[in-house]
Amino acid sequence: MILGIDIGGSFTDMLLFDGKRFTAHKTFPTNIEILKNEIERSEAKAIGIAIAAWLREGKILHAPNLPFKEFDLKLNVPYIMENDANCFAYAASKIFNEKNLIGITIGTGIGMGIVIEEKIYHGNGIAGELGHIVIGGDEPCVCGGKGHLECYFSGWSIRKRYGREAKELFEKNEFPYDENFDVFCKAVANAILLFDPSIVAIGGRIGGRIDEKKLSRIYDFLPSQFKPKIKVVKDDYMVAKGAAYLAMESLKNI
Ligand SMILES: [Zn+2]
Repeated sequence: MILGIDIGGSFTDMLLFDGKRFTAHKTFPTNIEILKNEIERSEAKAIGIAIAAWLREGKILHAPNLPFKEFDLKLNVPYIMENDANCFAYAASKIFNEKNLIGITIGTGIGMGIVIEEKIYHGNGIAGELGHIVIGGDEPCVCGGKGHLECYFSGWSIRKRYGREAKELFEKNEFPYDENFDVFCKAVANAILLFDPSIVAIGGRIGGRIDEKKLSRIYDFLPSQFKPKIKVVKDDYMVAKGAAYLAMESLKNI
C-alpha cells in the first residue's frame, strides 16, 4: 500500500492507494504528532507527501501558510515530497489522461502545477507560482510582495475583502463573481497563453466550489484559437492522490 498525504495550512488529508484504487480517506487538523502516528499505523511501503510550500531540491524554501517552518518525519520507508499544486496537476493528468495540462488550486492561497508530456515541470524548482504574479496596487501579499494575484482572489484575501469565509461564500453561491474574479480569470488566461494546455483543472477547497459556468469568463481574455477545456475538480483528495501516484512512480525507479 502507498500512502498519499496532503499537508495543508489547516488540514491534512490522507489516503491509501493499492495501485488501482484509493481507500481509507481521512482528514485531520495539521499537526506533526498526529501525522507521525497516522503514518506508523498505515504500515505503507512508500509515502507521497504533498505540501503547501515552495521546494527546491527537496528543501522547504518558503511556506507562509503552514504552521511550521521545517519538519522531519524521520521516515524509514521510501518517500517523495512535492508541492501540493504540482500533485494536484499530476493527479488531474492521470485521471483525465491528458499529457499537457495545468492545474490550479485555490485554498488559502493559489498554486499552479504544470504537466508537460506527463511530467511535472519544475523549472529551477518552483515554477508556476501563479498566485504571486504581479497584478498591481500596493496591497501586501503573504509572500512579502505587493499587489499579487492572491491579494485579489484567494482564501485569505476574500476573507479580508468580503468579511466572510471564502468556502462558505462559494458553497452558498453568494460570491459576486465581480472584478476580483475577473483578475483571477485574466491570470489564468495568461497562463493558458504560456502553456497552451489541453485542460485547465481547477480545484482546492475553494477552487473546487467555483461555479464552472462562471469560468467561461477566462475565454473572454483569450484569442479564439485558445480553447482548453476548463474543469472544476470537486475532489478534496486530488492533491493526496497526486502524491500517491508520484510515490508509486518513484518506487518503479528504485
Ligand atoms: Zn505574493
